[in-house]
Amino acid sequence: MRYASHVADLVGATPLVRLSSVIGATADRGPIRATVLAKVEYFNPGGSAKDRIARSIVDAAERDGLLRAGGTIVEATSGNTGVGLALIALQRGYRMVFVVPDKFDGPKVATLRAYGAEVVVTPTSVPPEHPESYYSVAARLAREIPGAFNPNQFANQNGPRGHYESTGPEVWADTDGRVTHFVAGIGTGGTISGTGRHLKEVSEGRVRVIGADPEGSIYSGGEIHSYLVEGVGEDFLPSTFDPAVVDGYERISDAESFAMTRRLAREEGLLVGGSSGMAVVAALRVAEGLGEGDVVVVLLPDHGRGYLDKLYDDGWMTAHGFDVPGAASATTDQAG
Ligand code: PMP
Repeated sequence: MRYASHVADLVGATPLVRLSSVIGATADRGPIRATVLAKVEYFNPGGSAKDRIARSIVDAAERDGLLRAGGTIVEATSGNTGVGLALIALQRGYRMVFVVPDKFDGPKVATLRAYGAEVVVTPTSVPPEHPESYYSVAARLAREIPGAFNPNQFANQNGPRGHYESTGPEVWADTDGRVTHFVAGIGTGGTISGTGRHLKEVSEGRVRVIGADPEGSIYSGGEIHSYLVEGVGEDFLPSTFDPAVVDGYERISDAESFAMTRRLAREEGLLVGGSSGMAVVAALRVAEGLGEGDVVVVLLPDHGRGYLDKLYDDGWMTAHGFDVPGAASATTDQAG
């Protein structure tokens, strides 16, 4: 018999899926000749790439004696990292407390509660240093709860390490070492720093690493302002991000990210989150100048189910000023 002893043992080993429809020629550019492969992270048991860092962070905390039997995991997270940590905590018998800003109260918080986690909701409209901010509340709970461990995904180097040890080797093995470009969005920077570093080492520097960044975020430079794509971009530089790994950036608007995300669902059958569409827009910009021998791997971080009432909802899109092309027709050929 072939089975896992726990669903948390199924983290990683996600598949590569070749993109076909969305790489076709558009009004803005010709057809793409390079092979573009999507690494579909929603195949992880918690539905996102964050399962990987949850595992590597908890493994390291146990090794270092920071987390012991009966301990509590306390983290400020609005979603994917919480789900990943909840899975690992369930497997290993830890209590979990998540601190979430109220702007994320909704299906993501309901998901955390469904896994049996305790969720503390804090006001969004206060600065990080305010005692009521989700950073401050998480830090306080981590101090007050006996046996608490605070993973702090924006400063924990075991996050990028998880990608260095799993995502990178998977991409290399599944492309038979033919990957030439790796494209990913940047939130904590763990994905791009860990995966990118591994791919650069094994390819002796040949693989190019490109960061996809929302317009308004700090990584790609330019003006800092708010944006709607979730999970990527920052207004500060987290220590989990290693800029030395990144060869270049593509700066993507919300409109482009959401249009491409919807195309991925309708044309490729990939129901993914908005940061996946953003990464694919960046990957296609990169692939545009490449030839047939090039292999671009783009990482799609999470599932689209959490965004059905947002970017997949025509009313939400229109209310936020985005075009909803071809709502009545099946052919969506807009530039991407
Ligand atoms: N997309 C989504 C939906 C995410 O939740 C995250 C993590 N914040 C990212 C992309 C970026 O990943 P990383 O933190 O590894 O840079």
